[in-house]
Amino acid sequence: MSEGLLATAYIIASALFILSLAGLSKQETSQRGLWCGVSGMAIALIATLSDPSVEGLAWIIAAMAAGAVIGLRLAGRVAMTEMPEMVAILHSFVGLAAVLVGYNSYFDHGEMSQVMQNIHLSEVFLGVFIGAVTFTGSVIAFGKLRGIVSSKALMLPHRHKLNLAAILVSFWLMVEFVGAGGNTVALVVMTLIALLFGWHLVASIGGADMPVVVSMLNSYSGWAAVAAGFMLSNDLLIVTGALVGSSGAILSYIMCKGMNRSFISVIAGGFGNDTTASSGEGLQGEHTATTPEEVAELLRGSSSVVITPGYGMAVAQAQYPVSEICHKLREMGIKVHFGIHPVAGRLPGHMNVLLAEARVPYDIVHDLEEINEELDSTDTVLVIGANDTVNPAAREPGSPIAGMPVLEVWNARNVVVFKRGMASGYAGVENPLFFNENTRMLFGDARESVENVLRAI
Ligand code: NDP
Repeated sequence: MSEGLLATAYIIASALFILSLAGLSKQETSQRGLWCGVSGMAIALIATLSDPSVEGLAWIIAAMAAGAVIGLRLAGRVAMTEMPEMVAILHSFVGLAAVLVGYNSYFDHGEMSQVMQNIHLSEVFLGVFIGAVTFTGSVIAFGKLRGIVSSKALMLPHRHKLNLAAILVSFWLMVEFVGAGGNTVALVVMTLIALLFGWHLVASIGGADMPVVVSMLNSYSGWAAVAAGFMLSNDLLIVTGALVGSSGAILSYIMCKGMNRSFISVIAGGFGNDTTASSGEGLQGEHTATTPEEVAELLRGSSSVVITPGYGMAVAQAQYPVSEICHKLREMGIKVHFGIHPVAGRLPGHMNVLLAEARVPYDIVHDLEEINEELDSTDTVLVIGANDTVNPAAREPGSPIAGMPVLEVWNARNVVVFKRGMASGYAGVENPLFFNENTRMLFGDARESVENVLRAI
């Protein structure tokens, strides 16, 4: 493929990636967006492989085939609730790739002038640093989302000073590395520091802030790809990485605003968030258990009902009976609305996707601000597998979720919480809602409980 043709293919692929991002931003155009992304990537791969400067094509194709088989098998088995974990582990691969490209580019490069060498060494150093931070940060995010690492924030003594020291020492090592025209020891020491830094940065962020962390790591993986693009002199990788990096940063910013969090605090590993906060452990109180028959009775006597789903609905796959209950109540002349918290579940838009899948009409699904205005005139709220997103502890200063906007379900006349036991939510904060006088607990798997209530209606 000639250089001109290669450049044209790269421009077409970049345009398709931009169209893909635009399409994915709306539910109605998301499929088109997906296909633009897939076509862009196919063009990018074919064009890159046809570049005459690419060597060892057989090895590349063998590695791609092996990767495709593993990827297809794993992705086929991933449940919807496990998607964020998969995204996190994929980010870690981008980080690791940037580290490997960096080392390869350091050890294997041609002759260059002094100025070009300085630029090249700076690219290598920064690429390895960003890649290593992204790698361990994403592995820890994967562990937290999968539940194999505690979702609570790790509070090491002097943690901010440790972070600052890691950055300052790395900067000093960079000056040494570039100044000496390359220094393997400095590169290796920085890599170890960056790996620890990435681990610490994500480990010290609490569960409720994980949505922001995932989009932030998405952004880091984009910048890691940019660094790899510079080292490999591949323009398309630079453009694609910049698209991922900047869109991830914008999404993190929007999420921080929605969650009432400081963007700087979250990207700096929870800086300024020093509450040795009580997670409400040992919260005392009596809860009132109820039965499907009592809930059916309560619903029959209500004229307005709000349903607030959460992660437990996704785990139980309860969206189908929830949709049936909604239709049944509407047939009975009862007003039914849904209230969706922006971080309910484990993915941005997770609940909206599930409800759309179960054919709940869009016009009765409302976001947090809209539904909060309605709750004090609502007869009954059904909380289906939600916990952190309906936790009044968010109003208590010092709580790990302090300041996070929540669905104020306690303002309704009656609240029924569908969950299996008294366990806390993802953020590990006890929920005083369960002990309120107007709250009833319906214990059991959400799908079974909703089906039982449906039968009893
Ligand atoms: P939570 O994770 O806070 O709580 C879910 C509740 O569902 C649990 O308390 C659990 O209680 C219950 N549950 C689990 N399985 C079942 C089941 N089969 N049947 C019935 N109940 C079940 O959910 P929320 O949606 O309220 O909050 C989401 C949390 O996840 C927030 O902290 C958010 O920040 C975080 N997060 C969100 C992401 C996003 O992008 N949306 C990404 C990463 C994290 P029990 O075990 O007692 O049944």
